[in-house]
Amino acid sequence: MAQIKNIGVFTSGGDAPGMNAAIRAVVRTALYHNIQVTGIRRGYEGMIHGEMGPMDRKSVSNIIQRGGTILKTARSDGFKTVGGRKMAYNQLVKNGVDALVGIGGDGTFTGARIFGQEYNIPFIGLPGTIDNDLQGTDFTIGYDTAINTVIDAVDKIRDTAESHERLFIIEVMGRDSGLIALRTGIAAGAEAILIPETKNNITALFDRLERGRKDKASKIVMVAEGEEAGGAFEIGRQVKEKYPNYDTRVSILGHIQRGGRPSCMDRVLASRVGVAAVEALLAGRKGEMIGITHNEITYTPFEHAVKHHVDINPNFLKIVEILSL
Ligand code: ATP
Repeated sequence: MAQIKNIGVFTSGGDAPGMNAAIRAVVRTALYHNIQVTGIRRGYEGMIHGEMGPMDRKSVSNIIQRGGTILKTARSDGFKTVGGRKMAYNQLVKNGVDALVGIGGDGTFTGARIFGQEYNIPFIGLPGTIDNDLQGTDFTIGYDTAINTVIDAVDKIRDTAESHERLFIIEVMGRDSGLIALRTGIAAGAEAILIPETKNNITALFDRLERGRKDKASKIVMVAEGEEAGGAFEIGRQVKEKYPNYDTRVSILGHIQRGGRPSCMDRVLASRVGVAAVEALLAGRKGEMIGITHNEITYTPFEHAVKHHVDINPNFLKIVEILSL
């Protein structure tokens, strides 16, 4: 096994708070071990076009607390082609990069798996996505910050919901997964949670509203964007039609969920897996995502990290039903 001399680091897919803390950890750990680091801008797209340059300890100063990613991120159709990946590999060779750490979600690791089959370059992934939808880690970098941002927003909405005695239907991110809606719904004291993993959500919601306390001043319903009815506006329309007496409002939280200062949890997670990524490369590991499971560093092959849908905990739904009495 050739000794690693220059690690390329990049962020890819949707940005997530804590990505900067992960970049910092990778850069500082590599330098600690006397290995050079190359920062690749704009994910796979920048890799294809040779947008990369050396990083030193100062290039990651004062970023641990910042949201977004200093390396920028992008979605790249070019990397999905054989020719695009060849261009990317040639750029890595040209810049002396002989190992990679990519921070992103399932798309990023799918690309990494294919690239690893075509080219002999050690590649380690770090879970950076607000979705928390990867196998092989209890939490992904960005998820904790995102759910705290949601809670902060819902608490504010509840003030107005309470004052005006309104029913608020609040949509949060989650095209395929209800993990954000489920956790924030419990923490916000929601009446009901509508997620893609469950069926007949509208019927269940009506049932819930029928059985719930009629004298409650405010009601909060959390909806994941990929829910079967098609989102909060459609649910709001149906609720208004059935319950014209309720003062029903819809709020879509949108991109505020991606931004902001990373929470302590996300910074620590990013720092731990960032250090572990470089140490894994030095130990000869490749083709794996590094996560933390039950507080231990774990290594999951890319194909397993992306393969399965992360199941929701059915107890969480039961908790909502009990507690929204
Ligand atoms: P998030 O979960 O935040 O959306 P992600 O990593 O899943 O992050 P994607 O846009 O799905 O984000 O993937 C990032 C990039 O990975 C894509 O823009 C593309 O360049 C690359 N990629 C995804 N799928 C493939 C594939 N099948 N082959 C090669 N590259 C791929």
